Amino acid sequence: MSVTPPVTTVKTSTRPRLFTPGPVEIPNRILRALSQIPPHHRTDVFREVYKRVSADLQWVHQTEGEVLMLAASGSGAMEACVVNLMSPGQKALCLVGGKFGERWGSICKAYGVPYETIEVPWGHAIPVAEVEKKLDADPSIAVVFGTHSETSTATLHDAKALAAVTKARKRLIVLDAITSLGVHPLPQDEWGVDVVVTGSQKGLMSPPGVATVSLAPWALSAIEGDKLPRFYWDLRKARKNLPAGESAYTPAVSLIYAVGEALLMMKEEGLANVHTRHRKLGAATRAGAQALGWTIFSKSPADSVTALEPPAGVDAGAAVKRLREIHGITVAGGQDHMKGKMLRIGHMGSYDLSDIYVVLGALEECTNALGRPCTGAIEAARRAWEAA
Ligand SMILES: *Cc1c(COP(=O)(O)O)cnc(C)c1O
Repeated sequence: MSVTPPVTTVKTSTRPRLFTPGPVEIPNRILRALSQIPPHHRTDVFREVYKRVSADLQWVHQTEGEVLMLAASGSGAMEACVVNLMSPGQKALCLVGGKFGERWGSICKAYGVPYETIEVPWGHAIPVAEVEKKLDADPSIAVVFGTHSETSTATLHDAKALAAVTKARKRLIVLDAITSLGVHPLPQDEWGVDVVVTGSQKGLMSPPGVATVSLAPWALSAIEGDKLPRFYWDLRKARKNLPAGESAYTPAVSLIYAVGEALLMMKEEGLANVHTRHRKLGAATRAGAQALGWTIFSKSPADSVTALEPPAGVDAGAAVKRLREIHGITVAGGQDHMKGKMLRIGHMGSYDLSDIYVVLGALEECTNALGRPCTGAIEAARRAWEAA
């Protein structure tokens, strides 16, 4: 006879915990880095910091090119890519498998850039052969805009294969790696990814407000020449100022300290270890949730976030609400047509197996409380962590 754990009626938490796919929990070290008095940005003190953070960003991107920092959320870097890479008359190809893939199309549309799309149902990865076909059929496509980890569906796309296809056809590829940098391997130069964008509030464990555009060495010249109208997002100005350790406009000084501290933490852990830890976190979360009767939504699951559909009879929205109200845990629900039908657990950045025990233990309590008897999430997670 299986024993159903008792249902909790009083709050189990005394502090809020974030398990959202951005923003993420910010480690104390990074909070301390944020709390120092920001120096003026046109000083040697800050120039040295700026240069070091730029170099460490190259390290995390595994590129000999340049990583430009912008004062924006991730979408700002996405827009910067469109206006700096597209010339009037050129066509784009947007790869759409969820909310963030769609955003590339929305940006192109706003700027009047003609674009084609390859769309797949949510939860599926873009079939690389279709990209190949589309590029061969339409020589006017100059740039492909894709997503490495699609956060709305927790789906990982095959960055290496996509980049090989664009490179062989002499087109550019821009990848949104906002929830994959510092989670999944994405060696930019080795895989031939021309441009990669990120934001500070996801894998970089910092508050929102710094976005980056990483240009591979051979892609540096791609932003030159007649492009769409650009002013604040003009990356030529950012490039020009970079060697001096300066940005074109006032940078997000405090946040750059935070990102710098995050990169130091990643260097101490080692990039391969950071990737391995996330692979294990993803495996543990999926196994634990499955043990409770939840279904993995993605056919190609990412390790930054896990998207789950509830067992029959359990309401995903009610689980999101109960996690927050009883357990102090904030997770994300579904977006657009998946609203109320999905629960997304973010586990990118500083999370460890103990954190996963916390969220799964709470999910187990909620699933029971919402009518589905279940047990065994922690044990399933531990086994999956060991095996991954
Ligand atoms: C968070 C996120 C973004 C950017 O969103 P902002 O709110 O502008 O930071 C873009 N793409 C993906 C995949 C994301 O997860």
